[in-house]
Amino acid sequence: MQEFDFAIVGAGIAGVSAAYHLAPSASTIVLEREHVAAYHTTGRSAALHSETYGSAEIRAITVASGRFYRQPPPGFTDHPLLTPRGALIAGRADQETELKQAAADYARLVPSVRWLDPGETLRLQPLFKPEAVQGGAIFEPEADDMDVAAIHGGFLRGARAAGAVLRLNSEVMLLARKDGRWHIALRDGETIAATTLVNAAGAWADVVGGLAGARAVGLVPKRRTAFTFESPPGLELARLPMAIDFDESFYFKPEVGQFLASPADETPSPPCDAQPEEIDIAIAVERIEAATTLRVPRIKNKWAGLRSFVADKNLVVGYDPAVEGFFWLAGQGGYGIQTGAAAGRLASSLALGKGLPSDIVSLGVTERALAPGRFTQG
Ligand SMILES: Cc1cc2nc3c(=O)[nH]c(=O)nc-3n(C[C@H](O)[C@H](O)[C@H](O)COP(=O)(O)OP(=O)(O)OC[C@H]3O[C@@H](n4cnc5c(N)ncnc54)[C@H](O)[C@@H]3O)c2cc1C
Repeated sequence: MQEFDFAIVGAGIAGVSAAYHLAPSASTIVLEREHVAAYHTTGRSAALHSETYGSAEIRAITVASGRFYRQPPPGFTDHPLLTPRGALIAGRADQETELKQAAADYARLVPSVRWLDPGETLRLQPLFKPEAVQGGAIFEPEADDMDVAAIHGGFLRGARAAGAVLRLNSEVMLLARKDGRWHIALRDGETIAATTLVNAAGAWADVVGGLAGARAVGLVPKRRTAFTFESPPGLELARLPMAIDFDESFYFKPEVGQFLASPADETPSPPCDAQPEEIDIAIAVERIEAATTLRVPRIKNKWAGLRSFVADKNLVVGYDPAVEGFFWLAGQGGYGIQTGAAAGRLASSLALGKGLPSDIVSLGVTERALAPGRFTQG
């Protein structure tokens, strides 16, 4: 039986970034059920790096990840992981006070964030109808597009270079703890042993927790739909920021010569290979056509993925309080790529018993805010 210090379940962004950080210190294997890595949510994102999105902890971890993505170590990638995009969160007249408050709140962590009046909003995003932006907008000039394939590939390549093994077509079926090690039974009949199991199974994290006898953290996978459509001829796409409405009921952004859009749906779903529903695309088209001068005559591509949240929408990172050698790295929600680099680093540090990295602590993140036991302990 092959033996490892760490067996990571899942080769999405969470699993490969944890492997990248663990492999230099410990023998590591990544077990992935599918025939390719990043088949599920990681391969289906909108690829925006926004430091104003999510809870205070998510935003802090996103800032820490941004430092890695902007200046990755030599050899990680041969082209930029982030490219400038900018993001505008626009609202109606009755939302102006809330927009101004949110902009001031975000600016404490990201000083370049500011509120724009309706005129400035329309100058930056002329596709909006004036009535949709009467409350102005929160402008995040440093929001960036991420190259998700390059980020995921860089972590995987780096993990392998440090000795980690990736095993595809390897669904974890059963977990048994014997003599201080996990015996991990795979679908093909083989069993692998590991001292610590890292649960980076995305939408399936509570299922994998159940195999180990751990209490569920209450993860709810929620389907989100995305699609692309052609841009009207003559539009200078490259300069347009991502546009989001303050109610988060739709967004769109340029994506290599076309637009990527979403109704920002959050439909609870069992863990599965999520597929888009026509009705969700129709809702997005209606909302975008109501708020902008864009017309969507034809959908080019469409897809859906599961964004999996726990109740407080923070990450779940740390050892299970009751099950020995069982480590959680779950709850990436809608932020798994933008938090990926720092989440993998802090997970590795906690898993190796070194506590939270000090730069992440100085951004205001605590172990308690991420702890798996926070849902069951007072
Ligand atoms: C439409 C959409 C837009 C998004 N936009 C953004 C964005 O702009 N920015 C951002 O940061 N995030 C975004 N996200 C969220 C982001 O994609 C996720 O947070 C992230 O991909 C989650 O990564 P993961 O590794 O946790 O999960 P996954 O990528 O789903 O990986 C989990 C893996 O575990 C494997 N697995 C599960 N059970 C087992 C088992 N028993 N044995 C072996 N393997 C198993 C699965 O096969 C899967 O490959 C978006 C998501 C969607 C759907």
